[in-house]
Amino acid sequence: TPRFPVVMNVLEEMQSYGHERVAFHHDAKTGLKAIIAIHSTALGNALGGTRRWAYASENDALFDVLRLSEGMTYKAAASGLAMGGAKSVIIMPNAGHQPTEAEARAMGRFVDTFAGRYIAAEDVGVSPQYCDWMALETKHVMGGNTVSHGGDPSPFTALGCFNSMKACLAHTGRKVDFSNLTVAIQGCGATGFKLAKLLRQAGAAVLVTDVHVPTMKRAVEELGCVALGNDKNLFEEKVDILAPCALGGVLDAKTIAGLKCQIVCGTANNQLRNPNEDGEALAKRGILYSPDFVANAGGLIRLAGLYLGMTEAEIDHKITEIEHTTAAVLAQSGGGSTGAAAIAFAKAKIAAGAAKKQMAGAGCGAGCGCKA
Ligand code: NAD
Repeated sequence: TPRFPVVMNVLEEMQSYGHERVAFHHDAKTGLKAIIAIHSTALGNALGGTRRWAYASENDALFDVLRLSEGMTYKAAASGLAMGGAKSVIIMPNAGHQPTEAEARAMGRFVDTFAGRYIAAEDVGVSPQYCDWMALETKHVMGGNTVSHGGDPSPFTALGCFNSMKACLAHTGRKVDFSNLTVAIQGCGATGFKLAKLLRQAGAAVLVTDVHVPTMKRAVEELGCVALGNDKNLFEEKVDILAPCALGGVLDAKTIAGLKCQIVCGTANNQLRNPNEDGEALAKRGILYSPDFVANAGGLIRLAGLYLGMTEAEIDHKITEIEHTTAAVLAQSGGGSTGAAAIAFAKAKIAAGAAKKQMAGAGCGAGCGCKA
């Protein structure tokens, strides 16, 4: 029997996704098991959240961190940030495993071994408090409130998504006016709730669903959203805009076939289960998809902007620019897959940025000041 019968061929996967570095870590004292994946540092050091999740297998964790970190490269590049792309995952031993300072500090020490090449932040299962705990061991963390800084990025993610929706409306030839629109939001958590609030303030009717009933009730009671009946499927509701704000992989051949919306624009990462096929399928059905890493870049812009020393005004301007970035990507898609157009858009920015860096002799990019 092979010693590692189910572990995928990591180097082959890295080659196919284009990763620079993937590191595995085990801390014997706390039991922490974690992976950090750096997809690209072509444009600079790489900032990406840390996800705590009870993965069914190590393969699932590896797959998640590879896909998420690749997306971060495109997200940073498309947003015009001098940043690479990376992400990390913590493999929880079970779903209810509580976050502790000891675990977070162990993760912080792991992050520190990258000496700033990787900068951690929050993601699913990681709070500003957890970021501050990590920051007790490394200065390369954003998203905390006391030891590190930046705080919760979700208000900025929601605002960026709202801006992206404006570009989608304009692209479909509609008035950029939410007052007669119905938007369906899957997941009213940190980003979904704030997006619902912006939409309600702009006059839209908002239909919501959440597997956590109190979270859904809050959106109904505080914002006047309408909860979807248990017998209904949000992805088959006749709405103007569908906003996936919960999980990745929600758009596949089956869900796309049942969609009755005109626009898909949400905060969730990796919304397309099979990026090539699903991007094409949406285009063929005439449904405008705002590529996830363009629509949900607001939080990254906020934390990366602070890390890079941008002013509040510069950061706000960049989040406003998500509308223009979305418009540019949609225009470039020429009626084909907008997901593919967004990747081409990001890759062009990476190539241009990397060439500029080389011309300027910018050194190794690790922020050490060398000209090597
Ligand atoms: P969150 O955990 O605060 O909220 C997610 C919500 O979705 C929860 O309330 C959960 O109960 C609900 N949910 C889970 N499965 C569901 C299902 N099948 N149907 C309906 N609801 C379901 O997370 P968040 O920070 O709002 O992030 C949401 C998504 O956006 C994630 O994919 C995340 O990676 C992505 N994202 C978040 C940010 C950010 O700033 N927080 C930035 C970029 C991308």
